[in-house]
Amino acid sequence: MADVLAELEALRAHDLPTHGGRTLAYVYDSGLAEADAVGRAALASFGATNGLDPTAFPSLAAMERDLVALARPLFHAPDTAVGTVTSGGTESILLAVQTARDAAGVHRPAMVVPTTAHGAFHKAAHYFGVELVAVDVDLATMRAVPDAMAVAMDAVADRLVLVAVSAPSYAHGVVDPVAAVAALAADRGVRCHVDACIGGWVLPWSAYPEPWDLAVAGVTSLSADLHKYAYTPKGVSLLLHRDPALRRPQFFASADWPGYTMLNATMQSTRSGGPLAAAWAVTRHIGVEGYRELVATTLATTAAVADLVRGTEHVRLAAEPDASLLAVATDGALDVFTLADELSGRGWFVQPQMAFRDLPATLHLTISAATADGLDDLVVALRDSVAAAVAAGPVVVAPELRAAAAALDPATLDDAAFDGLLALAGLEGAAVPDRMAPVNALLDAAPPRLREALLIAFLDRLTR
Ligand SMILES: *Cc1c(COP(=O)(O)O)cnc(C)c1O
Repeated sequence: MADVLAELEALRAHDLPTHGGRTLAYVYDSGLAEADAVGRAALASFGATNGLDPTAFPSLAAMERDLVALARPLFHAPDTAVGTVTSGGTESILLAVQTARDAAGVHRPAMVVPTTAHGAFHKAAHYFGVELVAVDVDLATMRAVPDAMAVAMDAVADRLVLVAVSAPSYAHGVVDPVAAVAALAADRGVRCHVDACIGGWVLPWSAYPEPWDLAVAGVTSLSADLHKYAYTPKGVSLLLHRDPALRRPQFFASADWPGYTMLNATMQSTRSGGPLAAAWAVTRHIGVEGYRELVATTLATTAAVADLVRGTEHVRLAAEPDASLLAVATDGALDVFTLADELSGRGWFVQPQMAFRDLPATLHLTISAATADGLDDLVVALRDSVAAAVAAGPVVVAPELRAAAAALDPATLDDAAFDGLLALAGLEGAAVPDRMAPVNALLDAAPPRLREALLIAFLDRLTR
């Protein structure tokens, strides 16, 4: 057994660190060793249980009810509200869209979202045949513009099934004007979903002044991920609906086969009780007061990093943050991709975000409680990284390459063409290069459809 576990540990050698507060995307570290231990123990102990049938494992149904009960006051849910535990933010959003589509039952259903809505809405559009209408945000604040969303809603009025906003958005960390947009949806008799996947376990303990949750009458559903700021192991999100009738189309049953009658509240059928038990245990261990302290630490750290960015030449905040996420842009003396590589070389992982429509390329920083301990080091790392990136200068993508990329129609490319393009982009084989800036700069220059096609071709090869 020890051999196998040692091999498993060795496999992690090239993974990003999940702890230490210096991986500023993907992972969330409370810095509380005991909370981690509680989560791991619960995960292991319930790993083999099956949420397929809550009557066979009543413990799982009980824990799900407890988590919903915990969340309900945090989001000002009315007494009628109901909730479901899902495997993650994407599944919560998929279900919110599917439920809205099926409740409306219209031909060619459409939803209206700001351009900053999470990619999970695009995935839902793709899976469920819902047209996604993305409305530009305000370039100064990066927030949704209610008037523009109203125009978009009216353009698809007879087939509009859902409107969504973020609290906050992943890319820029700002909360959309939830009340204004929800009122527009309510006026039109349409559902409004608040994507609080990342902010759901932060905003309730922050001083954010505007109403953003189920306290807003027009908000019909809300998603909040526990595997983010509730600091629970991966695989748990909550989807709340204002009342049972709104949730009803989410459920699926099939008696059309000779086996057990299939009965599911989520997309998965067999699902491990491990993540649910871990979330139950960690939230209970940390407790509401514990989260209040973690959020205070996180927001103070976010404010400190924001000040650091404001005080550093050549970099700036792309938006004023409303919660614990920062988007950092640069001036022309350097590019964000080179800066990301420089920070990475100094032990700080930040996530590059490509330019989109009129929005600049940025670096995404998710600050968690454990980041507080590294602040002094980050001050030095950022200063040195900016200096190094300025010295190197921005990666230049040759204009003829940019033009060629713009002219390529990904639908016409065959496997060999993708092999060639991936080699050109530096994405060959199973290992990604140490310095990602040249790759990212090229991808950034590619139109979104081509970028998607290239990355799919890359993933396809990675998993052959
Ligand atoms: C993380 C996130 C999601 C998607 O959640 P996953 O758990 O990664 O599937 C959706 N919306 C927002 C705002 C997020 O931050």
